[in-house]
Amino acid sequence: MDDTPDNHPAGSDDAHVDHPRTGPREPVDDGAGHAVVLGAGLAGLLTARVLAGHFARVTVLERDELPDGRPGFRPGLPQSRHAHVLWSRGIEVMERLLPGITAELTGAGAALLESPRDFLWLSPADWFQPVPGARMLVGSRELLDWTLRRAVRRDPRIEIRGGLAVTGLVAAPDGRSVAGVTLRDGTALAARLVVDATGRTSKAPAWLAALGYPAPEVTRYDSHLGYSSRAYALPEVPPAGAAAARRWRGMYVQGRPDRPRGGVLVPLEDDRWLVTLLGNGEHVPPTRDPEFLEFARTLRSPALYEAIRDAEPLSEPTGFRATANEWRHYERLDRWPEGLLVVGDAACRFNPVYGHGMTVAACAAHALDEALAGLPAHRVPAESRALQRRTVTAAAVAWQIATSEDLRYPWTEGPRPDRATRVLQRYMSRVMAGANADAALSAPFFGVLSLSAPPATLLAPGTVLRVLSKWRLPTAPDTPPYPPHHPPG
Ligand SMILES: Cc1cc2nc3c(=O)[nH]c(=O)nc-3n(C[C@H](O)[C@H](O)[C@H](O)COP(=O)(O)OP(=O)(O)OC[C@H]3O[C@@H](n4cnc5c(N)ncnc54)[C@H](O)[C@@H]3O)c2cc1C
Repeated sequence: MDDTPDNHPAGSDDAHVDHPRTGPREPVDDGAGHAVVLGAGLAGLLTARVLAGHFARVTVLERDELPDGRPGFRPGLPQSRHAHVLWSRGIEVMERLLPGITAELTGAGAALLESPRDFLWLSPADWFQPVPGARMLVGSRELLDWTLRRAVRRDPRIEIRGGLAVTGLVAAPDGRSVAGVTLRDGTALAARLVVDATGRTSKAPAWLAALGYPAPEVTRYDSHLGYSSRAYALPEVPPAGAAAARRWRGMYVQGRPDRPRGGVLVPLEDDRWLVTLLGNGEHVPPTRDPEFLEFARTLRSPALYEAIRDAEPLSEPTGFRATANEWRHYERLDRWPEGLLVVGDAACRFNPVYGHGMTVAACAAHALDEALAGLPAHRVPAESRALQRRTVTAAAVAWQIATSEDLRYPWTEGPRPDRATRVLQRYMSRVMAGANADAALSAPFFGVLSLSAPPATLLAPGTVLRVLSKWRLPTAPDTPPYPPHHPPG
């Protein structure tokens, strides 16, 4: 199961709790030329790949035992039970960092879709017509995790060690820098650079406090969105009768404040499909039968319910509730130890419904790569604070999208929207209404949503004129049950 010869069993529940230790043993070397990345999630793996270009050795320490022979579930990635899409910008950056990774993924059964052409999508305004949009990669998160790990491990400078939970940071004698990490078994590992990529459950604030550093400010928005997901085998499409043939490769029925229930259906490898139901507050989707299917029937369109009504469930429904947007502003701290970086969900996480976390993690790795260009390894620790600021800028656009969309839901907890956000929300409602049918707007809209184009694209004078002159605000509550280009039957 595990891919390291000298792993230390992480335990199950216990592996997720940090216990104080009586003091770590001294690191065996001074870690020169060595970078340590905590967490073998997507952010950790891509960061390791980048660091391998600058450090002689990179060690990735992962709490979970890592499935080796084939993709599999692991407790540190509970989100893998739920639908994941990787937007075009994420695909592009990952391909740049790991050439050939897209073909490797599609060869193993992941699918490249063109949204909304292949992907039926009921937006808050209306169904998207088959207008130009953006590419997205879909498949199980377990496949992505496993394929990335395999690709990163091919680099001989990188060692990925599973079953090792990190419990804290080791301070250098100067008290101003991080010199390594402590592990659950009481040993320590020395490094010149430590990167925390332990995701949403990161203990970095406590680890910093133990070294005498202040806690970061936190900005948090919670729309209380809940997920419930289940894998299915869909019935075969009848070979005869083109009208009845399935002409879509996935669908998304989006909720909106007056009907806060939605659902996504995406293909997985091995002829499986994954349904993720979504709902806010009292509308969180059930995790039991037959309520799961009943919930699907209550969405704004019957299309998703009809697609799974006669399908064979392949798993029990599984829920997920921790979907708040949370930004730990390490970049704002006045004091920051040399030799430490915090990346990925550990620094900033998003309501996952907008599908941005993986793309932002990839963009942050890319930003780190650019920032490190020409910087010798021995100078990297001293630049940590600047690197922290530089990498986290990758989160800004996704943060703006997720929080301004979440603030449309009146019960969302978090700082109230300012005037600029309210104006942006109204403008984006019109953009969305226009993008549903107008190729001139769908292309820039999906460019921004997929993080491939800057938001300013939607503020180009021609686009603004088109948006403001043509589309009423989508106040009409009813939308057709099926997209006009894909009637039932
Ligand atoms: C329900 C859900 C759906 C999502 N859907 C999408 C989507 O459609 N598209 C998208 O782009 N993003 C999506 N995301 C976000 C995406 O999963 C994350 O942004 C992405 O995985 C990057 O995370 P990460 O690598 O920072 O952290 P993670 O993926 O959480 O990885 C952290 C790793 O650190 C390990 N770890 C934790 N503590 C320790 C420790 N003390 N010592 C050693 N190792 C440790 C964990 O075991 C884990 O392997 C979704 C998230 C959720 C929750």
